Amino acid sequence: MVKKYVYFFGAGRAEGNKDMKGILGGKGANLAEMAGLGLPVPPGFTISTEVCDLFYKSRKRIPEDVRKEVGKNLARLEKVLGQKLGDIENPLLVSIRSGARASMPGMMDTILNLGLNEKTAAALVAKTGNSRFVYDSYRRFVQMYGDVVLGLRPVNKDDIDPFEAIIEEKKRERGIHQDIDLTADDLRNLVARFKAAIKKETGHEFPEDPMKQLWGAVGSVFGSWMNDRAIAYRKMYDIPESWGTAVNVQTMVFGNMGDDSGTGVAFTRDAATGENTFYGEYLMNAQGEDVVAGTRTPLQIAELKKDDAKSHAELEKIRHILETHYTDMMDIEFTIQQGKLFMLQCRVGKRTAFAAIKIAVDMVDEKLIGEKEALARIEPDQLNQLLRPIFDHAEKDAAIKGGRLLAKGLNAGPGAATGRIVFNSVDAEAWAKRGEKVILTRIETSPEDIKGMNAAEGILTARGGMTSHAALVARQMGKVCVAGCGELVMDYGKHVMTVKGRTLREGDWISIDGTTGQVIEGKLNTKPSEVLQVLIGKTLDPAKAPVYRTFAKVMKWADKYRTLKIRTNADQPDQSANALAFGAEGIGLCRTEHMFFGEGKIGPMREMILADTLDQRRAALAKLLPLQRKDFQGIFEVMAGRPVTIRTIDPPLHEFLPHEEKEQRQVAAEMGISYEKVRERVESLHEFNPMLGFRGCRLGIIYPEITEMQARAIFEAAAATRKKRIEVEPEVMIPLVGNVKELADQEKIVRQTAEAVMKEQGVTFKYLVGTMIEIPRGALTADEIAAVAEFFSFGTNDLTQTTLGVSRDDAARFLVPYVEKEIYAKDPFEVIDRDGVGQLMRMAVEKGRKTRPAIKLGICGEHGGDPSSVEFCHLIGLNYVSCSPFRVPIARLAAARAALLNAPKAEPKKTAGPKAKAASKAKKPARKR
Ligand code: PEP
Ligand code: MG
Repeated sequence: MVKKYVYFFGAGRAEGNKDMKGILGGKGANLAEMAGLGLPVPPGFTISTEVCDLFYKSRKRIPEDVRKEVGKNLARLEKVLGQKLGDIENPLLVSIRSGARASMPGMMDTILNLGLNEKTAAALVAKTGNSRFVYDSYRRFVQMYGDVVLGLRPVNKDDIDPFEAIIEEKKRERGIHQDIDLTADDLRNLVARFKAAIKKETGHEFPEDPMKQLWGAVGSVFGSWMNDRAIAYRKMYDIPESWGTAVNVQTMVFGNMGDDSGTGVAFTRDAATGENTFYGEYLMNAQGEDVVAGTRTPLQIAELKKDDAKSHAELEKIRHILETHYTDMMDIEFTIQQGKLFMLQCRVGKRTAFAAIKIAVDMVDEKLIGEKEALARIEPDQLNQLLRPIFDHAEKDAAIKGGRLLAKGLNAGPGAATGRIVFNSVDAEAWAKRGEKVILTRIETSPEDIKGMNAAEGILTARGGMTSHAALVARQMGKVCVAGCGELVMDYGKHVMTVKGRTLREGDWISIDGTTGQVIEGKLNTKPSEVLQVLIGKTLDPAKAPVYRTFAKVMKWADKYRTLKIRTNADQPDQSANALAFGAEGIGLCRTEHMFFGEGKIGPMREMILADTLDQRRAALAKLLPLQRKDFQGIFEVMAGRPVTIRTIDPPLHEFLPHEEKEQRQVAAEMGISYEKVRERVESLHEFNPMLGFRGCRLGIIYPEITEMQARAIFEAAAATRKKRIEVEPEVMIPLVGNVKELADQEKIVRQTAEAVMKEQGVTFKYLVGTMIEIPRGALTADEIAAVAEFFSFGTNDLTQTTLGVSRDDAARFLVPYVEKEIYAKDPFEVIDRDGVGQLMRMAVEKGRKTRPAIKLGICGEHGGDPSSVEFCHLIGLNYVSCSPFRVPIARLAAARAALLNAPKAEPKKTAGPKAKAASKAKKPARKR
């Protein structure tokens, strides 16, 4: 069979359809689809993307067989219309447009009004009686052709367009200012001058022969696939060069033929809000470029009812047809030529995250799509827009236009926050107590800053990545955070910060957008989200909260399809309650060390660290015991029987000690010991590489009394909770285990303590002892570790740090360039590095299950809230993911999408040839693991 390269559309029929984007490009495929639906599409034909490939393979020539096929389709077009290209009575004019598989707006070339020459122009004047319109079209054509095909364009970036220079000259001669004041004769004269300039500057004669024009234009449009703009755009959006562009040759229709003509663009729903209203703009007596150029202000589509009621009604009808047919929100372009409506383009419309969610949910209600399709259309991160307070858009844009954008950092904790700058946690707390809104602005944060972070509206740091302390604690608290903003230079001593030569002082207003990473000078207003008002504040009735109801529907559908459980990382009863409201099914990580910074706990903690003898240490621990017990009980009560994983102390001890002399003196006074002693002890705890030092289970192994105290606090809290007839399910987790003997050592203490407490309290409860898998040796020997551990929780923050040998706290400087250079596809602290870290995880899962088939497997690193990483966790068969409370909804949706996208294909029916059997046995997931 002869290969087909050209596809005709029009007159109620089409040879292509919407599913042929690969060979017809997006524009061609959708034009064919609309024509096939019987919509008024100006007829034409599409030269396939395969010709683009041939074009480049044949040294930028159109092969002879393709030329013949184009000729046949042109003849067919002429027959359908009763017009002929170059005819001197009834000339056909066409447009030549590019159209790749993916939309590449404005990147390639377009030529309109092709077919005009001296003779056809005269014929058209005779036919239309409108010489101004004809010569305006003619001069636009010569201008476009001269630029695109013959190459007459500005050489240097500061040159003005040579055609525009001629127009300006003409206007000067005629003493007029506006293009619209140019007469038919002026325009005709411009055509002549344009042609002369083309000849003079390029040495090419402007072709009068319409077939020559056609081949020149088609070649140029294929050629524009490789222009600099298109290449750069493809690189940015990962569009393969091999796709090529199609070329659409289509009958011209004119929106500038008088007051009964016009042109416009529209969305079938509001692309910003998702409202089910027809949203668009048009201009009468104008061409497409006039609507976008902004020289005249377009009118709202509803106004068209007054200007042309018939076309408006027809458009409304087409809007409905297209939405029902494509089952999506569409973006359309139309032209009205002397009262007759034509559709020039349609494609799935781009929309905001907010609109994407609303449209998907509404379309399920309207029975246009099913729940699964709706879930597939919502990117999990888009849910953030429903949860976070946001800036007033107009106000923020104005601030940026006014030069108030100071810097951009990592968008570590989404949302909008505005407040006064404070440079330390003590001030943050104090200012917040007197009712000030503050932004805690630090070089970096440490556990000492927790109270200040809690008091602040948002956190801004100069150093640190997506898993830096500031970022992970902010997300856990649901705080807005911009981290790793390297341009900020802080001087704590002077309470000032400089950025881009500007100095900001303590107390100055600043606004941070944790969704985009932008840091803006001054105060911007924020709005709280409806979802939070309903779920967390409980100040809004769901009946009065349409955005909340949309959110709730998405969550209900997500829960129906996901197989992963979703837990949360929380160390406080209020955080746990928030997470429950967001749908968490347990706690996957309670970092006990965060509790030590709570009210009244840091003193005994420091006493414990500074103790010289076991007795002194035990005395300090005895003070901590009731305080920790109370915290745990609070969490158990809120979680009401859901599993709660509590991790024993993890960070290096020096993090709990003061480093400034003033504070060290204060501690010395409080403890009744000398300042020198405190200083010495702090110095002795100094480590060159604390992340690989005296931390994790190493602390509990050297100081077993700490583990014992923590286990006791956990189990006494469990007993007290049971006595209140509330179920409990504690899971005690030992961090940083790389050797089964470490775990066995700690397990023994935990179990002995559990037995003792149950006996003392006269109650029994279930509990588990397990470990984090967060250093490579832990993963490599997971089979041995599983002999002791009843569960594994992947600590992918440390596992990434130790597998890659990249410090999670110091990597910001090179991580961004690494991602830009595509050495890392994504920040590995944000998205699991499947090939490296992921391989260790997969191995640990397999080895762990081999030893203990019922082992519980989860993840509690920051990746637990990242959609791609959640998918990976689904693929390797974890039981749950755990993430910060505010990411719980995102993880719920990500888990559902992972399950739907990777659902095993239906088993082939029992026909059982050997090949079919092999295929059904393999049961591969649909996507690459
Ligand atoms: C981890 O390492 O992934 C983890 C959850 O522990 P942390 O972040 O507290 O070190
Ligand atoms: Mg860790």
